[in-house]
Amino acid sequence: MPKHFLFGLKVLFLIFIISFFSYFPPKSKNLGAPLGEFSSARASLVLLDLLKDEQPHPSGSKENEKIRDLIVEKITEIGLNPEIQSFEATIKGKKETLFNVVTKINGKNPNGPKILLSSHYDSVSEAPGAADDMHAVAATFEIIRIFLEGGKQLNHDLIIMFNDGEEVGLLGSKAFMDGHPWAKEIEYVINMEARGTSGPSLMFETSENSSSLIEIYGASVTHPRTSSVFYEIYKRLPNGTDFLIYKKYGLKGFNFAFIGNAQNYHTENDNIKNLNFDTLQHQGQNVLQIIDALQKKDLSKIQHDSNNVYFDLIGKFFFSWPEQNNIPLSLTIMVLLYFVLMRLGRLKALTWKKLGWGSLAFPGLILGTVGVGIAFDVYVFESFQLYGWWPKNPAPSIFLLFLIPCFVFWPILKFLRRRATFWGLWGTTWRFFCGLSILMAFVLPGAIYLFLVPSLIAVISGLILTGTKTISGPKAKLFASIPALIALGLIWIPTGVLLYDAIGFYMRTYISLIFAMTLAGLIPLSAPIEKKS
Ligand SMILES: [Zn+2]
Repeated sequence: MPKHFLFGLKVLFLIFIISFFSYFPPKSKNLGAPLGEFSSARASLVLLDLLKDEQPHPSGSKENEKIRDLIVEKITEIGLNPEIQSFEATIKGKKETLFNVVTKINGKNPNGPKILLSSHYDSVSEAPGAADDMHAVAATFEIIRIFLEGGKQLNHDLIIMFNDGEEVGLLGSKAFMDGHPWAKEIEYVINMEARGTSGPSLMFETSENSSSLIEIYGASVTHPRTSSVFYEIYKRLPNGTDFLIYKKYGLKGFNFAFIGNAQNYHTENDNIKNLNFDTLQHQGQNVLQIIDALQKKDLSKIQHDSNNVYFDLIGKFFFSWPEQNNIPLSLTIMVLLYFVLMRLGRLKALTWKKLGWGSLAFPGLILGTVGVGIAFDVYVFESFQLYGWWPKNPAPSIFLLFLIPCFVFWPILKFLRRRATFWGLWGTTWRFFCGLSILMAFVLPGAIYLFLVPSLIAVISGLILTGTKTISGPKAKLFASIPALIALGLIWIPTGVLLYDAIGFYMRTYISLIFAMTLAGLIPLSAPIEKKS
């Protein structure tokens, strides 16, 4: 393997390590944390109190009643007025009375729009529900404490709802929006959920036309974990949380959840032992930061007229731009790429023939990966019956899925690398990425950044190199490849990891495919590179 290719592989490996460590939520804060900060240790004391017996507490059960009584007691203890809203529901053919618990902290502006903080205290009948959704109940009490004694200002009334009947059809949120007198005054909602027991707190859903909300998120959340591609995927799935109901009633806002160790979801393993307290910390502090930011805004002035493309980078940096810029941006990058290719032609580094050979590399890698991936799935997984085994031991299988694109990569590039040469492979690989950006601008606008950002960086490198006529030698070729490869890896690898959390072991080939997309950045470096510059 050529030296520069190995160097690229090392860079990709390093990005993998960075992505791995950045996956984990920030460390939990202990009992001594400043009173104005969210502390998962303090929240966990509430959780231990509410969920002492660690029993499932589905709507209508004795355990459900016990937890409700504890919630009411705690609200009274901190000096607020608990209100119980009862409503009738039919669960599994049986008439039941269910109960939402609601309370309010008054803001300085009692006549303005109000903000709702929502979680549910019922569980499924199989699970103690430490994560789904008692973590949110506990986090809510810690957030209330911060607003009461942590010195944070409330300008708008904060309405807090612990709702019942979520697991049997989002009944509590619907009863509240339908029948509670406070519901009409609420304009914003923050909902907390869980589909696993660990991992980062993801902001995976907003109301429609959320560009202003996304800007608020970007400016206020210190450990952002979000992406417009999650929302693009999520809104196409049949899942529903209470947020679905709030959206139907026209509320604006944010939906937060964590999805690590999704195999624990709705099972007896959704218990306190398996709930990651760093995750609780991340979820609680994200929600606190959003409420705090909304409290400082004039809510009536927030616009809801457009969407943004947005994503975080390794949980530290946040980027976003208006969706209406997608088409001009992606077309401009394509035009600039052709400009670079024409310059390369004039500098005699590129011919139509080389471009022709190069054009086979990216589709070869992608189609080859999908083909081998499906064959692997059918022959290895089907014949060895690995389906039941996989969720408990995911590491070896994921490693195997990573190897698939590596095996496909070299045979294809071995054939093409001398025929297409470096610039032939470079030009065609990024032409595909530019083309996919343009396609995404029309079909999946929230996913465009996956293609657009790496192509933009590649094109900038290309413009600099052709502008200064330094297009030969190892330095020039590394400069053309490595920055774009870094962008590609930093954007695709974490997205892949979170998609694995969300989708799990179904349709396994997508794991190989995401890895193939990051390997695509290495295609040009597989070409022989002359020694002298
Ligand atoms: Zn839930």
